[in-house]
Amino acid sequence: MKLAVIAHDGKKAEMVSFLNKHLEFLHSANISIIATGTTGKHAQDAGLKVERMLSGPQGGDAQIASQVAEGKLEGVFFFRDPLDKHPHEPDINMLMRICDVHNVPLATNPATAELVLKGLAAQ
Ligand code: PGA
Repeated sequence: MKLAVIAHDGKKAEMVSFLNKHLEFLHSANISIIATGTTGKHAQDAGLKVERMLSGPQGGDAQIASQVAEGKLEGVFFFRDPLDKHPHEPDINMLMRICDVHNVPLATNPATAELVLKGLAAQ
């Protein structure tokens, strides 16, 4: 199973601590993680194993959307910062749209991501 994680700058620390908190489950369920470039770098620096795509503004969200469209991802955890502006807003909207088109779970905050992981654990 493969999940994508993306976090805007104001949410990167929260993403790393979320992943750390659920590390044991992610390992035991054999879930691999891909991430946008900078989010992935933060996760790697914290000792987590993730595959990095391009940085979000450079096309990383688009790369993840393409994997969603190809049926390669079971879920997307996208911790957005609603209090900041983003130059790649069109890509962000596109990724969320593609998740909805393909009915792929999309968690835009830690509370929802937590529930998605619980759901995966119960499968
Ligand atoms: P980043 O991209 O992880 O490379 O910062 C996230 C984003 O979409 O802003």
